[in-house]
Amino acid sequence: MHEALVTGGSGFLGSHLCDALLARGDSVLCVDNFFTSQRSNVKHLIGRTDFELLRHDVVFPLHVEVDRIFNLACPASPVHYQFDPVQTTKTSVIGAINMLGLAKRLGIRVLQASTSEVYGDPTIHPQDEGYWGRVNPIGPRSCYDEGKRCAETLFFDYHRQNNLEIKVMRIFNTYGPRMHPNDGRVVSNFIIQAMKNEPITIYGDGTQTRSFCYVDDLIGGMLAFMDSPPELTGPVNFGNPHECSMLELAERILQLVDSRSKLDFMPLPQDDPLQRCPDITIAKTKLGWEPRVNLEDGLKETVSWFRHVIDNPK
Ligand code: NAD
Ligand code: UDP
Repeated sequence: MHEALVTGGSGFLGSHLCDALLARGDSVLCVDNFFTSQRSNVKHLIGRTDFELLRHDVVFPLHVEVDRIFNLACPASPVHYQFDPVQTTKTSVIGAINMLGLAKRLGIRVLQASTSEVYGDPTIHPQDEGYWGRVNPIGPRSCYDEGKRCAETLFFDYHRQNNLEIKVMRIFNTYGPRMHPNDGRVVSNFIIQAMKNEPITIYGDGTQTRSFCYVDDLIGGMLAFMDSPPELTGPVNFGNPHECSMLELAERILQLVDSRSKLDFMPLPQDDPLQRCPDITIAKTKLGWEPRVNLEDGLKETVSWFRHVIDNPK
């Protein structure tokens, strides 16, 4: 049994992680500044003796006693992370320094939720962990991409300099229940638009690809990685290698929702990666992890969750 600190714990991935940790008997200190989430994601946990919720911004130091840190605090949707780009970089970089400092003081293991964005708009396909990426350092996505890259640098420097046990997880696009309906990411946008029979906003010609992983698979991978031997520092890719274009995604969602929405083609945002697909050989061979939920089943779960949200407005 562990006492885990989960930063960004009331967010989409963080709240599922809190559930999974509690379900296996760990206790959780959930820290969040509620920038992109609401307490409602963890409302069902409030009042439990093994769960504590603390409003705190990871840009400021935190002094608590725990024995593991999962560092997830950071807006993940391009719309959200570009809203206040300076804060995004601060969250990634200063947040990482604060969590690494805490881990060093306590002598505990710390996991970083890094991202496929460290590969930028990649020239090799699928992306493996040896690829250094192609990232624009001065564009609108840079606050996130470079912030996460710098956080990885800090993790490895604390590991080398202080012998800290680190786990650097490169997460590819993940979706599922509890995504914020106004999050701006493609899966939530398309589902909400399809449900309301509003135009589906395809950016560019819709041939750009992503590989979508269902949240339960991702959280299973996160726990397995955190529990793995200290030598496995990462970075390790986690995602679903099934690649899909945005046009295909739109068509699947339209069918699932039985929607009358039309496609509305809009300009492709600057530096939007054209293709993205994880090579998950390391996760498979070192952890025996691979995703189990296919896109169809995962989208069904997600659609029924969004139906519930729309039918039960707060
Ligand atoms: P999310 O926006 O739902 O959750 C992020 C959480 O962090 C929110 O609850 C937000 O309020 C909190 N937060 C933001 N800044 C903070 C700060 N300064 N101090 C404290 N809390 C802060 O996003 P998510 O999809 O759950 O992503 C979680 C993590 O996983 C992020 O670090 C993200 O970069 C990473 N990630 C997610 C994906 C994905 O597809 N979901 C892909 C790659 C990486
Ligand atoms: N996208 C889209 N319509 C939308 C939202 C996103 O076509 O309403 C595209 C976006 O341009 C990108 C892909 O979907 O190519 C995934 O975008 P998202 O914001 O979900 O995440 P990203 O992988 O870009 O961080």
